[in-house]
Amino acid sequence: MEFAWRTEDAAFRSELVDYLDTELTGEWLRSDGTGLGSAVYTEFSKTFVGKLAAKGWLTPHWPQEYGGHGQSAWQHFVLGEEMWKRGEPRGPQYMNVNWVGPAIIKYGSEEQKRALLPPIARGEVFWCQGFSEPEAGTDLASLKTRAVRDGDDYVLNGQKIWTSYANAADYCFLLARTGAPASGRDGISVFLLPMDTPGVEVRRIDGLVGEHSFNEVFLTEVRLPHTALLGEENNGWNIVRRTLAYERVGAPRYARAALVLDGLAAWARNQGSLADPGVQEQFGKARTLCEAARVLVYRVIDERAKQKEPSPLAYQARAAMVQAERAVGDLALDIMGSEALVERSLGDAQFRNSLGAGIAAGSYEVQLNLISRLILGMPKD
Ligand SMILES: Cc1cc2nc3c(=O)[nH]c(=O)nc-3n(C[C@H](O)[C@H](O)[C@H](O)COP(=O)(O)OP(=O)(O)OC[C@H]3O[C@@H](n4cnc5c(N)ncnc54)[C@H](O)[C@@H]3O)c2cc1C
Repeated sequence: MEFAWRTEDAAFRSELVDYLDTELTGEWLRSDGTGLGSAVYTEFSKTFVGKLAAKGWLTPHWPQEYGGHGQSAWQHFVLGEEMWKRGEPRGPQYMNVNWVGPAIIKYGSEEQKRALLPPIARGEVFWCQGFSEPEAGTDLASLKTRAVRDGDDYVLNGQKIWTSYANAADYCFLLARTGAPASGRDGISVFLLPMDTPGVEVRRIDGLVGEHSFNEVFLTEVRLPHTALLGEENNGWNIVRRTLAYERVGAPRYARAALVLDGLAAWARNQGSLADPGVQEQFGKARTLCEAARVLVYRVIDERAKQKEPSPLAYQARAAMVQAERAVGDLALDIMGSEALVERSLGDAQFRNSLGAGIAAGSYEVQLNLISRLILGMPKD
């Protein structure tokens, strides 16, 4: 692994930072990252990603024929880091460029690629992820939403839950059972569902991670053409495994945590508590965890840049990011005391973020299980 940045990546970061310093001003310059699903945030990110796309900075790592610029995985990651350092102004579209698009590039038909990838690359569409169900979260393979073949169509019935941004989404990357009810992971398929299809109903859930982030999605007799199937029928589990490997490190959460840490240090300095050796030690530990997460994520990006298949390193990187987020959240509560209870304060926002980080994209405990089995070689039970 090469630790120095390549000249072109360093130059790209510097140009990007200059651009973001000019473009992201005023209201945007808050570090809490709350409101990712809010109307204001959504509107802002739609305009902003259009500007990024015009500069070739939305999907730089995609193949040129689908709206990309054939740049390396590192360049895409530099973009991600700088965005998360600023509270992720791309909004929900970080998911499109990280894993929805790459999944379509890998498994999609030529027709799907031509129809679905260019609008993502131009920053025109939102996607959401329809995986979790009321009885299928960690145990995703037990999902019950059914898709039954009927002539040239599939007819879908079921319910999704915790679907982030579904209220603003144009499409859903949806998992449904096409095999027998007890077929487990062997009977799951992926559908690319336009959210305006008749029979799709979105209901808001108020959650702790930000204004209007969560939704339930109900599917009643939703009829989709068979061309909405991604890859082969019943091969959805393989697609999801790969997709989640991309999603787990797609958001450089350590970059946002480090930004919050800087904010907390400024707060502590103002309060006169930064000189306390105990407080300094806590800051040192939290910063170390952010840096450790950064290096572990870089190992995954290094694999990707070398065109290797996703490996279990992604679980390690994800677990490290959760530890970093939690350390900063705990520090905020410790040093800010009751001020951290004020809604949207640095402490409140970071604590909520760290709770979400340990559950989304597979919980922290699940990452630990996978590390023990696939990296440490321990038995499953
Ligand atoms: C911020 C956020 C955004 C999300 N966005 C989406 C989205 O867009 N689309 C979507 O489909 N879902 C989304 N989710 C849902 C998320 O994927 C699920 O919450 C997650 O998979 C856990 O499932 P669950 O909530 O059913 O909890 P459960 O699976 O019931 O788990 C509850 C607890 O038990 C622990 N546990 C369960 N099984 C094991 C085990 N075998 N070993 C050890 N511990 C275990 C878990 O770690 C967890 O702490 C989101 C969640 C969050 C927090």
